[in-house]
Amino acid sequence: MIDTAIVTTGTGVVAGLGYAPALWVKPAPVLPPSYDAPLSEEARESEIERWKAAVVTVAERLTARASNASGAAAEVLGATAALAADRGLQRATAKLISAGSTAESATVAAIAQFIEKFEKLGGLMAERVTDLGDIRNRVVSELLGLPEPGVPTPERPIVLLAEDLAPADTATLDPALIHGVATRLGGPTSHTAIIARQLGIPCIVAAADLASIQEGALVLLDGGAGTLFVGTDPVEAEARVLADAARREAVQSWTGPGRTQDGTAVELLANVQDGAGARAAAKFPAQGVGLFRTELCFLSAQTEPSVADQAGIYGEVLAAFPDQKVVFRTLDAGSDKPVPFVLHPEEENPALGVRGIRLGQADPGLLERQLDAIALAAKQQGVTNAKVMAPMVATIDEAQDFAAACRARQLSPGIMVEVPSVALLAEAFLEEVDFMSVGTNDLTQYAMAADRMAPSLAALTDPWQPAVLHLIRSAAAAGVSSQKPVGVCGEAAADPFLACILVGLGLSSLSMAPNALAAVGLQLGSVSLDQCQRAAAAVLRCTTAREARSTAHELLS
Ligand code: PEP
Ligand code: MG
Repeated sequence: MIDTAIVTTGTGVVAGLGYAPALWVKPAPVLPPSYDAPLSEEARESEIERWKAAVVTVAERLTARASNASGAAAEVLGATAALAADRGLQRATAKLISAGSTAESATVAAIAQFIEKFEKLGGLMAERVTDLGDIRNRVVSELLGLPEPGVPTPERPIVLLAEDLAPADTATLDPALIHGVATRLGGPTSHTAIIARQLGIPCIVAAADLASIQEGALVLLDGGAGTLFVGTDPVEAEARVLADAARREAVQSWTGPGRTQDGTAVELLANVQDGAGARAAAKFPAQGVGLFRTELCFLSAQTEPSVADQAGIYGEVLAAFPDQKVVFRTLDAGSDKPVPFVLHPEEENPALGVRGIRLGQADPGLLERQLDAIALAAKQQGVTNAKVMAPMVATIDEAQDFAAACRARQLSPGIMVEVPSVALLAEAFLEEVDFMSVGTNDLTQYAMAADRMAPSLAALTDPWQPAVLHLIRSAAAAGVSSQKPVGVCGEAAADPFLACILVGLGLSSLSMAPNALAAVGLQLGSVSLDQCQRAAAAVLRCTTAREARSTAHELLS
């Protein structure tokens, strides 16, 4: 037994082991008060110029770093630079300085206003609060003549520990030197997690007791299990890290198709958001598309594209996967994904409001036009019986109406299992439709009554929660008894151990971010169906998420 002292457990977001001395990110500058003694009238104009120069410097530095990065890292840095130069933010700050505030205080006050606004909007906007805080710290440091805050460049490998990491810092981490990242805050969908995944750096977020780890302590970080240890025997720790490196290499060379060690086929599919995403996914070992999130094509569309224009967009995804399965999801607009052309009523609680299939209430005809467009795209690409599923279905009536609308257009209807009512009555729902796909992100959010975007609730929004696993079991069992396909397309499918449990429960396909496919395929290929079924039965007897996770790791490793 080498794990002599688990220091903290968080949410593992990038699997892999890192073993190195801990290095803490240094805190941000001490911020001035949001208001101080008023500046004289004459000093205000030059103060605005001083502040503008600081903003330009900060934005230019971020843009320069964006041009040295690639992929998601470059996008995040570019987005942070754009936010720094945001006109609304500039206007608010300039107004405060014109009223007599110093540049430092005005920056603090204006960003506080924007943070409040973004938090009220919730969802994706709330996730940008870290970016705003990062911009504030950079601008204030520049104004005070302090060095740029952020991660120091280490001289030898380290495990980086932080309260929270600004996306701009995460984007420039060098995987050769940063062998692991752990933050006390942050959620599985935060930018930090997304970039760490892209860079392949083992990463844990929401690690509550992180502060007890001293700078320089030798830390073994397990990004799969979400644990951090100190006091591990160095020889054994090194051996574990080496074995993990070999596993990561095997992942790189895995090519599919998905099957268990004893040959049971499991479709491994990609989640995509548009034609470009589908073409990129086709380069991974994906056997088709299990979830095409159509709303993501239209996040900035002010007017509804015509049926012909929509068909052009949808056709691109079909063309990227010729002769393979492609599952369309109708617009899941609303909540954290507002689509400008869709009529959203004002709501107190949008995650529980008019989103997904419910949009028909507010915007009659929208669903029908989208189905016409999908049918047209299918016809143009020579696809018969294209698969279409509806998000946020809660009642049998909704499923019946949706199925009828699809069948009238020769489309094969399915529904997502995101609302617990569908998991509980899965057999009855399956009488109405041809297939189901479990959206574990929302199913977990609604089963646990915990906002999936709230970093502080990461322990609740964990698909290993026993109640969530039992709901999935109910949906899977209905698929087996009615002999209709039931798969998973939420983030849970991308966790290699949970993927085996899902297969053991009877789910027939797993759809995920394309870069997660190989790790899932490799793990699935290392265990038999019987092993998956036994592990699933054992996991269903667990009473905590932690116990479920460790039971699965034990039985499937
Ligand atoms: C889900 O809820 O699990 C899902 C796949 O849908 P989305 O993440 O787009 O809400
Ligand atoms: Mg969902």
